[in-house]
Amino acid sequence: MNKPKHVVIIGGGFAGINAAKRLAKEDEVTVTLIDRRNHHLFQPLLYQVAMAAISPADIAVPIRSIVSGYDNIDVLLGVVTGVDLKNRKVKCDFGDVDYDYLISCAGATHSYFGNDQWEDFAPGLKSLEEATEIRKRMLIAYELAERETDPAVQKELLTFVIVGGGPTGVELAGALGEISRYTLERDFRNIDPRRTRIILVEGASRILNQFSEEISEHASRELERLGVTIWTNSMVSDVDEHGVVVGEEVIRAQTVLWAAGVRPTEINYTLDTDLDRGGRVVVQSDLSLEKYPEVFVVGDQASFSHTRDGKPLPGLAPVAIQQGRLAATNVLRTIAGKTRKPFFYKDKGIMATIGRASAVLEVGKLKMSGFFAWIAWLIVHIYYLIGFRNRMMVLVQWAWSYMTVRRGARLITSKIWKTREWEMSIARGNASQAKKRVGLTGKRIAKKGTSAKKKSSKKASKKAAKKSSKKK
Ligand SMILES: Cc1cc2nc3c(=O)[nH]c(=O)nc-3n(C[C@H](O)[C@H](O)[C@H](O)COP(=O)(O)OP(=O)(O)OC[C@H]3O[C@@H](n4cnc5c(N)ncnc54)[C@H](O)[C@@H]3O)c2cc1C
Repeated sequence: MNKPKHVVIIGGGFAGINAAKRLAKEDEVTVTLIDRRNHHLFQPLLYQVAMAAISPADIAVPIRSIVSGYDNIDVLLGVVTGVDLKNRKVKCDFGDVDYDYLISCAGATHSYFGNDQWEDFAPGLKSLEEATEIRKRMLIAYELAERETDPAVQKELLTFVIVGGGPTGVELAGALGEISRYTLERDFRNIDPRRTRIILVEGASRILNQFSEEISEHASRELERLGVTIWTNSMVSDVDEHGVVVGEEVIRAQTVLWAAGVRPTEINYTLDTDLDRGGRVVVQSDLSLEKYPEVFVVGDQASFSHTRDGKPLPGLAPVAIQQGRLAATNVLRTIAGKTRKPFFYKDKGIMATIGRASAVLEVGKLKMSGFFAWIAWLIVHIYYLIGFRNRMMVLVQWAWSYMTVRRGARLITSKIWKTREWEMSIARGNASQAKKRVGLTGKRIAKKGTSAKKKSSKKASKKAAKKSSKKK
């Protein structure tokens, strides 16, 4: 028998895990799967972690444990920095890894449209760290509002802006509406969480642009029922610690969340191959690169437009799953001297939830909204979750929160592990910070920010001095 060929898989996401499983136990190959994280993440439920409905461990599984039963698969933790296509080497932070075949599925990341400085003020939702950071910011905003006495500061603390009206933005907005109206309603004494302002900002003329108009309208009505205000045709021109600038309007908000754009992984720019306008790797109908047939690029990293209408496939989990499997199949077929198969996408439709028991979905000509769409959404998401434990945990938690409106994971945690530093960070995030913002008027906070900040901080310190002398 010939020496097994070495297949390297970059990324243990939907595409990578499915490619690895397809190659498992095949004698013709040994596989090395490289990922910068030790876990496979079920991104479609990240917003539930961010909104405190479920815990991080419920939607993440160690990659090593997923493939532990397959002797021909090795897992390496490491960051891939590029690929040397000519010499067949994957460049990693720990050194180079040679390959005979490469399946690259490193996914995508957020795009702030050239304004990466916005990230500090408006985290996106792509990893567990980001989800728990969003959860922390949301819960802290309520805590600070509870102990704040100035109504203007309180209003700012209870204003949430979500940028981007695609499925992620809609799901975040719906969940926030649900939390503020039902979950937190009885938990606070000095604030009424039902008065939370939730503003969903979308650049296009309607939210859920990838769905039909009818479904998009239904989603808008459902969100409004949950207290969400929707701004369409609204482009964000600035984001900073004061909030968001939309055209000439300033929205003062303690919490801004980013669900607006995606850009491909940096690995793409190291490849000597064609990229589409969005920077995704253009692939052949068999998912390989034109000049390098031993290299396959799939999932969110790839641009596949060998479709009936010539439009590239969207960045969706079913696309990644099916492409990961086919890329692996084509590796095996090549080794066996067979012709490769072209990729045909079996459309599984698109869906999004709006709050606790409502969703929208479209599969081909079928359009559904409301409770039954939510049941379908629930079944699909449970089905695709990896691991029996996760499925059971998520089901139980959903059933619990459906019946009681409670959210079990309302924990404020931080990456800071020293208690003293954590206490200081709470102090830094306290209302005096927010107070500086109040009183700032004007159209563009970014320009006025510095001088106005100085003035208002002087005011704040005078106020504080007065208060303390009164107390004395
Ligand atoms: C919040 C959110 C909600 C979503 N909801 C839905 C939904 O409801 N339905 C749906 O169909 N799709 C949804 N998607 C999209 C779906 O998750 C993606 O299309 C899918 O994850 C793409 O799979 P992938 O394998 O290409 O990439 P990913 O799943 O992103 O996996 C990429 C992997 O590569 C690793 N990686 C990246 N860069 C490097 C590097 N340099 N070195 C080493 N490892 C690296 C990452 O750690 C990751 O494990 C959602 C996405 C997000 C972010």
